[in-house]
Order: sequence, then structure tokens, then C-alpha cells
Amino acid sequence: MNILFMGPPGAGKGTQAEKIVNEFQIPHISTGDAFRAAMSQGTPLGIEAKSYVDKGLLVPDEITNGIVRDRLAQPDCDKGFLLDGFPRTIAQAQALDGMLAELDKKIDVVFNLVVDRGLLLARLTGRRICKSCGATYHVIFNPPKQEGICDKCSGELYQRSDDTEEKVGTRLDEYSNKTAPLLDYYRNKGILHEVNGEQDIHQVTAEISSILRGQS
Ligand code: ADP
Ligand code: AMP
Repeated sequence: MNILFMGPPGAGKGTQAEKIVNEFQIPHISTGDAFRAAMSQGTPLGIEAKSYVDKGLLVPDEITNGIVRDRLAQPDCDKGFLLDGFPRTIAQAQALDGMLAELDKKIDVVFNLVVDRGLLLARLTGRRICKSCGATYHVIFNPPKQEGICDKCSGELYQRSDDTEEKVGTRLDEYSNKTAPLLDYYRNKGILHEVNGEQDIHQVTAEISSILRGQS
């Protein structure tokens, strides 16, 4: 099953992806994670991406598409994959269709996690991530058992540098202007499922999981 998660920053894509890839045993492909890994390693890609990520802007399509093209060609994607945070522009969606056609694949299902803009600021500024395993927490909505420590691997939790009030504003504007129009692209293909992302984390997972089990 080839799955795509859409929704604004903070909608819960990463949180749900963690659970769904575990249940369906498929790779999780997050362009945001790929950029953060390259940035922390200081690779040429990371240095270039940083100038956009740090401002809350989208990284140009040519750079982003190249990462996904390489990743989708890896053999572990043959059993299915979950794309999170890509595509984010119409041009990326068209490029993705081209990459998948070359690999004789297609997107089977797209989930749009719907969350009111007013709630996203609180979600993003309270988000904490494990340095070691990447698990996502929230200081109020999904706190770890021990403050600052990952429940799963005891790693240290950190706050993303783009999860500040100022950058969140830019990121949400980028989403509204460039990414939201993409929903119609997938709605017109008849593969878009809208999920209420304001429900409890476990309820959201249950809804997505039941739709996926119904498809396979
Ligand atoms: P995205 O990957 O879409 O940017 P995340 O999955 O990182 O979003 O979630 C953003 C923040 O909101 C995290 O701190 C996460 O713990 C929290 N969160 C995610 N889903 C929910 C939910 N259903 N209810 C409350 N908080 C949530
Ligand atoms: P995310 O982890 O999905 O919130 O992404 C963090 C940042 O990485 C975004 O604000 C962008 O700067 C960049 N990014 C991630 N995915 C994409 C994409 N598909 N296109 C352009 N930029 C992206």
C-alpha cells in the first residue's frame, strides 16, 4: 500500500506515521526528517536546505524532488511506503506522478488530517522530539512520562528551531498558499480521505488504520 499524509504543519502527520508504519511494516519517508538529518550532518544539501527551513519557507522543488526520487527507488519501498510532508506543491505532485510511473507504482490512498489553524500554533510550539529515535511528544497534549526524556528509548527531547511562533506563521502561510491547493489534485483522483485530526491521537490512528485495512 502506497500512502500519502497531507495536512498543515502540526496536523499530526509525523505522530500518525510513526504508528501506521509500525502496523503496516512499511518505510516512513519524511522530507522534513531528510532535511533535518542533512542539516545536522552539514552536507551540501543540508547547508542549502537550511537557508529555507530556518525561515519557515519551502525548499525549492528541484532539491526536494531529488531526495524523494532516490528514496522511492530503494528496494524496501517495493512493499509499500508512507510519504509524509511530500508533495507540498503542485509541481512536486506532478513530479511524484512521473517518478512513480517510471517505477510502475501509484499512490493508493491520501489522508488529509484536518485541524483548525488556531490549534496548530499551540501544537507546534509545544512539540518536542527525541534526538535519538525521532519520536514526537507534546508538553501538554502528549507529554513523556518523565519531562525531557523519551519514553521509548530514554533519549533527550529537543525543540525544533522552526517551531517558534514567528516561523510557524510563515510555515502556515506557505501551507495555505502552496500546499492546500494540492488537496483538489488528489480529491479529483478520488483517493483523498479527510480525517478529523482534532480527535484524540488514538482515535485518529484507529480511523486511518480502519480505512487502510478496508483497502488491503
Ligand atoms: P506534523 O508532522 O503534521 O507537523 P506532528 O505529528 O509532529 O505534526 O504533531 C504536532 C504536535 O501535535 C506534536 O507535539 C504532537 O505530539 C501533537 N499532536 C499530534 N496529534 C495530536 C492530537 N491528535 N491531539 C493532540 N496533540 C497532537
Ligand atoms: P516538516 O518536518 O514536514 O514540518 O518540514 C520542515 C521544513 O522542511 C519545512 O518547513 C520546509 O522548509 C522543508 N520541507 C519539508 N518537506 C518539504 C517539501 N516537500 N517541499 C519543500 N520543503 C519541504
